[in-house]
Amino acid sequence: MHFVQAKGILSAQNGMNLYRGCSHGCIYCDSRSKCYHMDHAFEDVEVKENALSLLEDALRRKRERCMLSTGSMTDPYIPLESELGYVRGALALADRFGFGFTLITKSARVLRDLDLLRSINEKTKCVVQMTVTTCDEELCRKIEPNVSTTAERVEALHRLHEAGIPTVVWLSPILPYLNDTEENVRGVLERCAAAKVRGVVCFGMGLTLREGNREYFYAQLDRLFPGLKERYIREYGTQYVVSSPHNDELMRLFHGFCAEKDMMHDNDQIFAWLRRFEEKPEARQLSLFD
Ligand code: SF4
Repeated sequence: MHFVQAKGILSAQNGMNLYRGCSHGCIYCDSRSKCYHMDHAFEDVEVKENALSLLEDALRRKRERCMLSTGSMTDPYIPLESELGYVRGALALADRFGFGFTLITKSARVLRDLDLLRSINEKTKCVVQMTVTTCDEELCRKIEPNVSTTAERVEALHRLHEAGIPTVVWLSPILPYLNDTEENVRGVLERCAAAKVRGVVCFGMGLTLREGNREYFYAQLDRLFPGLKERYIREYGTQYVVSSPHNDELMRLFHGFCAEKDMMHDNDQIFAWLRRFEEKPEARQLSLFD
């Protein structure tokens, strides 16, 4: 870990990266790609030391409230967060100033902040997004080694639903010849439906590979699944989008299942909902008396 002083914290879309880099070790991580110009080792997490004071300042100056979000250059609930509490600090600021919040994680550590998530959601909207790629716990430990397993994530989704926090699942990525089976996709979707997930984001049954993340991914394939790298190279060369040969039938299954269970499955619809700031009627009534 190392600290830096940041110049700003909120992007034009009101996203924030409190940390840059991640210790969760997912073998397919796109944030390792060279195009993001991370000038330090990916696991040596960069902490924006002044992030919370910048955020407080930015929220004070905003004319209109909106949804805030965490960015994709890290998982907000890396182990370091237990020590530093920057994400908790950002949630507390959103709560104090009446902003909505959405974050995406693979960690059940998000439950630590249930009190703040609930408080934000009582006034506006707070959505927890969680990535779930496989129902196979053993495969999960291999491809996402340092974070909650699928069973732990699904348990967290249930706990969030019980607390009234809406959730969205990212069924992504799907790795050809590893988790691109009907059994897996159906299994993930069944778990989502049981946890009353509002929507499932899916960009297609595949993954993206480019300079930086491709080299890391291939090294991990060599270590964990000998011979698979050669198959990828043979079939996909240096393509950016690496699509499963079962993409079409799996996408039909995905859309059909989500429609049947009344889970949103149109990415544009889900993202529009995530961006929309909503004030709860009770909160609006209270603010009239402020
Ligand atoms: S949790 Fe996200 S940012 Fe962290 S290694 Fe996995 S894919 Fe990358």
